[in-house]
Amino acid sequence: MEVEKGTMLPLMEDFYTIQGEGFHTGTAAYFVRLGGCDVGCHWCDVKESWNADLHPPTSVPDIVSKVSGIAKTVVVTGGEPLMWDMTALTSAIRQAGMRAHIETSGAYPVTGEWDWFCLSPKKTKLPVDDAYAKADELKVIIYNRHDLVFAEEQASRVNKKAVLFLQPEWSKKDQVTEMIIEYVKANPKWRISLQTHKFLNIP
Ligand code: SF4
Repeated sequence: MEVEKGTMLPLMEDFYTIQGEGFHTGTAAYFVRLGGCDVGCHWCDVKESWNADLHPPTSVPDIVSKVSGIAKTVVVTGGEPLMWDMTALTSAIRQAGMRAHIETSGAYPVTGEWDWFCLSPKKTKLPVDDAYAKADELKVIIYNRHDLVFAEEQASRVNKKAVLFLQPEWSKKDQVTEMIIEYVKANPKWRISLQTHKFLNIP
């Protein structure tokens, strides 16, 4: 199967926009969203990504040809992109002179060569060890107070160079943002990440 080899990937959508969250907030990036995820976050805002069969297998050259000449950075997201072998995709992105970034829960073995690795761990399916080791950025979504405990557990596992972010879950932002502000003031190793693309009403 071409999909299993990672030379065809279930492409859900792709679009050029502004990175809304995390370390690279505010910078232009081309997003490639792949279908398939079994992590099962109840607050997931892209549940339509979960069933990979709904998204057409698309060849790596076809994906990269959409991006070439448009963007300097490609953000591969999902779904959970590490369900697929990312070797061919990252190699093609980098050969085309672009940077390959990933947004992942880290729940699957890490494949591909990444210029930026954003690890966003989820309680339902924890990251593999290699994901903690490779993370440039740890982004923990805060839905309730207990998620701060989870965030500290995850920070203790990630490599020491990773930049640490707490991000209010969008539907709960009015309830949890104040708590996060106070937490970051008391624990300044953390930064706040906001979903600025949603405030800007862009994808
Ligand atoms: S890992 Fe991401 S795509 Fe998968 S269920 Fe959680 S939020 Fe949704």
